[in-house]
Amino acid sequence: MDKINTRPNKHISLIGGGIMSATLGILLKELNPNFTITIYERLNEVAAESSDAWNNAGTGHSAFCELNYTPQKEDGCLDIKKAIKIASSFELSKSFWAYLVKQQYFDKPESFINNIPHISFVWGDDDVAFLKNRFEALKKHPLFADMIYSDDVSELMQWMPLVMQHRLSNEKIAATKVDIGTDVNFGNLTRSLFTHLTSLDGIELLLNH
Ligand SMILES: Cc1cc2nc3c(=O)[nH]c(=O)nc-3n(C[C@H](O)[C@H](O)[C@H](O)COP(=O)(O)OP(=O)(O)OC[C@H]3O[C@@H](n4cnc5c(N)ncnc54)[C@H](O)[C@@H]3O)c2cc1C
Repeated sequence: MDKINTRPNKHISLIGGGIMSATLGILLKELNPNFTITIYERLNEVAAESSDAWNNAGTGHSAFCELNYTPQKEDGCLDIKKAIKIASSFELSKSFWAYLVKQQYFDKPESFINNIPHISFVWGDDDVAFLKNRFEALKKHPLFADMIYSDDVSELMQWMPLVMQHRLSNEKIAATKVDIGTDVNFGNLTRSLFTHLTSLDGIELLLNH
């Protein structure tokens, strides 16, 4: 990212001490280190609301397992635009975090991002047909090339033994799996981002405000 030192100073106010302000604050300081920023947080700590790990699911949203990102149109075809947009955005997020680690702004990426397979599991004729269509439509795109599909009971037992326990053998089931999914602890990430941000000149973090 090029630093644009020639731009005039600006003072920026960010409301809320969650992942959004932490990310935007760092982006702004990367673009122009002369910017001064005040962050207002009504609570007595950062990352205590939605960004806290206990308050969200922690899935790195890449549309690998979020079935709502590929809605079915009236003609039965699947619209995969949103899935591709979200998967692309998440690749940008990962590039941004990798850049921050490379800059040594924080040193333990495993404290906030870890690899975990993303599985979508469905049952019943309609949903199995939907998942198969979704798989066929997505796998052609490079971002989803690692996705695999199965309706084979013995294979599904290996993918997710607990989910498969005590299931009826005549039940129609299927799943897709992507091994390169991620689990993200947005709370730890937010705290790490704020630790770096508040070490920079011109940054004021006001808690209980
Ligand atoms: C149940 C659930 C599951 C989720 N699962 C996922 C997931 O798996 N993957 C994913 O990527 N996302 C997930 N999300 C979404 C994700 O958690 C949020 O998009 C993200 O944390 C929002 O960050 P934020 O900084 O906007 O909000 P927050 O982290 O909520 O931060 C906002 C801050 O603003 C403060 N504030 C509010 N009003 C004021 C004010 N007037 N003055 C000062 N401070 C104020 C609050 O106290 C809070 O600290 C989930 C969300 C929920 C609720």
